[in-house]
Amino acid sequence: MAAPLLVFGKTGQVAHELTSLAPDAVFLPRSAVDLSDPEACEAAIRQHTPRAVINAAAYTAVDKAEEEDALAHVINGEAPVAMARAAAALGCPLVHISTDYVFDGQGETPWSPIDPVNPQNAYGRSKLAGEKGIAASGATYAILRTSWVFSGHGNNFLKTMLRLSETRDALSIVDDQIGGPTPARAIAQACLAIAEQLCEDSGKSGIYHFSGAPDVSWKDFASEIFSIAGRTVDVTGIPTADYPTPATRPMNSRMDCSTTEAVFGVPRPDWRDATQTIVGQLRQKGEIS
Ligand code: NDP
Repeated sequence: MAAPLLVFGKTGQVAHELTSLAPDAVFLPRSAVDLSDPEACEAAIRQHTPRAVINAAAYTAVDKAEEEDALAHVINGEAPVAMARAAAALGCPLVHISTDYVFDGQGETPWSPIDPVNPQNAYGRSKLAGEKGIAASGATYAILRTSWVFSGHGNNFLKTMLRLSETRDALSIVDDQIGGPTPARAIAQACLAIAEQLCEDSGKSGIYHFSGAPDVSWKDFASEIFSIAGRTVDVTGIPTADYPTPATRPMNSRMDCSTTEAVFGVPRPDWRDATQTIVGQLRQKGEIS
């Protein structure tokens, strides 16, 4: 029997999409392996001897990470490095998902994978620690930095907007942070394609960017969601300064994804198409009116 694909995570947005796209993979939910125990991550890889590993689990509570930075560091910084060590020993590739929050968000130019990093919050620092350790591990790897993830599953901006629109006819939404909303399903598809290509060609190892197109503000994303869902909500743009959060967010999250398309043949997905699909699915399931 062929060696399995091993996925850390099962219930998160990206992992959930992987369960339907790669039903034969072995999935490790938190109950099987807790990422706060990096040695357990290493042991799981040794036990399953996979052909490739995808890490779709992470500490993703960006604001809470400000007060739990030690835990975030273990889960996002140390556990992926332990995975990379085990993958290197076995000679199998690791696909790891990272974030636009490794950048400081200055300027208006899309960030390239080789641009200098300068995270502004504890979550970003923890994810950067993971990136650096993986790159130094000797493993064949792809670090896929993404942004503004959404799906029909779990908690995300799309679902929050749909929920708020049930009871509110006016909302104020930040309009000076710009980025690419990214469908979790497209990330899952990209991870699978990248994992298979890394099995064939370790020379493709490196850091890559992957976000949905076109780049927009949160306010524009919200307006499009309401338009697609047929909701009448009066959306007013506000500056980040008027919506304070414990963790500082980058203003410019635009990402240059050209090398991802050039190397792996994976283009930026159009988030408007995915929004349409997800709204239709939620309606069919009776989760929204
Ligand atoms: P979710 O928040 O939807 O899911 C995170 C997953 O990680 C959950 O399944 C959770 O399990 C699991 N997890 C958290 N802590 C642990 C732990 N200690 N041990 C084992 N599992 C744990 O994440 P997404 O799917 O949205 O994110 C996927 C990747 O994309 C992550 O690497 C994230 O950093 C990155 N990313 C996400 C963005 C976003 O907007 N969401 C933006 C940019 C990057 P449980 O269900 O048990 O809690």
